[in-house]
Amino acid sequence: MQAPIPTLRLILGDQLNAKHSWFASIEAHVLYLIAELPQEATYVTHHVQKVQAFFLAMAHFGQGLSDRGHRVCHLTLDETGQFDDLESLVKHVMKEHGLEKFEYQRPDEYRLRVQLRAMSEALGCPSDGVETEHFLLSEAEVLAFFADGKSRRMEQFYRSMRKKTGILMAGGHPVGERWNFDQENRKKLPKAWSPPEPLLFENDTTKVDERLVRHGIQTWGTAQAHLVWPVTVAQAEALVQDFVARLLPLFGRYQDAMTDRDWALYHARISFALNCKFMTPQWLIGEVLKAYERDPSTYELASVEGFIRQVMGWREYVRGIYLSQMPEYGQANALANDRPLPAFYWTGKTQMRCVAQVVKQTKAYAYAHHIQRLMVTGNLALLLGVAPDAVDEWYLSVFIDAIEWVEMPNTRGMSQYADGGFLASKPYVSSGKYIQRMSDYCQGCTYNIDERSSEDACPFNSLYWAFLHRHQSTLGNNQRMAMMYSNLKRIPAAELTDILNRADAVRRDPDAF
Ligand code: FAD
Ligand code: SF4
Repeated sequence: MQAPIPTLRLILGDQLNAKHSWFASIEAHVLYLIAELPQEATYVTHHVQKVQAFFLAMAHFGQGLSDRGHRVCHLTLDETGQFDDLESLVKHVMKEHGLEKFEYQRPDEYRLRVQLRAMSEALGCPSDGVETEHFLLSEAEVLAFFADGKSRRMEQFYRSMRKKTGILMAGGHPVGERWNFDQENRKKLPKAWSPPEPLLFENDTTKVDERLVRHGIQTWGTAQAHLVWPVTVAQAEALVQDFVARLLPLFGRYQDAMTDRDWALYHARISFALNCKFMTPQWLIGEVLKAYERDPSTYELASVEGFIRQVMGWREYVRGIYLSQMPEYGQANALANDRPLPAFYWTGKTQMRCVAQVVKQTKAYAYAHHIQRLMVTGNLALLLGVAPDAVDEWYLSVFIDAIEWVEMPNTRGMSQYADGGFLASKPYVSSGKYIQRMSDYCQGCTYNIDERSSEDACPFNSLYWAFLHRHQSTLGNNQRMAMMYSNLKRIPAAELTDILNRADAVRRDPDAF
């Protein structure tokens, strides 16, 4: 029998899936390379906790493989910083260890996919790229859903997933006779309410921090005394178990609520572990379903269905959008938005209390939940007409879970409508009234939520009507916006002029507000 070819297998920082078939048996001819890469630490200015979390998770993963008997080469910035690029690093490791074949898991990000494909050719040795085996659908399956290039709504995708997996199905019908229970969700937090204590970890970052300083890696945001995010499988599983036991019962009800009294609420905070692949969506969904089946009186179907829809529906769906639509998707700018991102997205220095609170919490924890991302920072960027590239860059930088395949469809597509409606049937814009309804931000804000044109009017209010007015020719025929446009028509002409003037002032110099 022919001896196997000595092989280098590259593992990227978001490919920490210990259940991958690569690791099913110990293969003496294989060396696994896991490396802190300067290019990955600097392609945007990441939140410091994001870099800490990636590097710690990679180190634990490498150690875990070694402990199981695999041959692992784990390199830190101290070693990789000496190489010009990934290709020269890979060439060096292959030469040093006498390796003749290069293998990798196909990256989710387009940028890295192109790079690794080109690099494999340039290496001039046998090479192969395989699936990450992480998602519920294979690449071929998810691409088949978008095969004709036509827009497909999430709801359609989600129902097909429910039917395919049989999850929350009974006799071919959705459990509870409805696919979606969002009507029961979307509640504001009660006035007298104590936040649930979030389960936080205490990961030591001293060595990583020293390396970041030594190698001049620029970051944004605040480092906590310890990294609170999960960086091992055990921590991720503990987080999920705690979520299921304490938070899931109220997840649905308060999923969209926003408050300055707490940053974590009833959310799972599992996206970093999922996106780095050391938590699998199968295990996560399995835990939620087990709890629901064990104790249906504790878990409202609205919460369970709402959570599963996020993981089995939205997460897999946006991956399909990204895989099938890149690279064109990354250029999309349907509303021709071109304004710069206001400085307060980075500094938090604005009198708009909702925005200041979301930026403040993001700086402190690299986290804001979905509605804060969509209806506060995203909504404002769209109302102002900020260029989608600048919005994407911010979202990619500041959140713990931001990796382009999931960040971009959410930001450029769902939040900024830059894809012209490929993902969402209408832009997610609202006046300040939505923020007032779902949060306690407006109490104590400098601006008056009931005003739309005066000196102290809530900027979201003026900007909202000006947005509808500005895009009337593009959006005016959208059936889902008919009510918004009929409300616009009802505004008296003189008042509309005042609103538009006020919105112009905000758009000209948002940092003054
Ligand atoms: P929970 O609210 O507890 O939800 C559970 C899980 O469902 C999440 O961990 C996540 O894996 C999944 N999920 C929920 N909504 C989505 C969604 N729209 N798309 C994909 N997965 C979803 N999510 C990221 O993982 N990375 C990003 O870079 C990212 N950027 C976003 C940008 C914008 C403008 C918006 C509106 C949303 C973005 N999201 C992103 C989706 C969502 O906000 C986060 O997944 C969620 O807030 C993560 O926190 P959690 O784990 O507590 O989620
Ligand atoms: Fe935000 Fe307007 Fe409310 Fe102030 S009044 S917190 S700017 S929505």
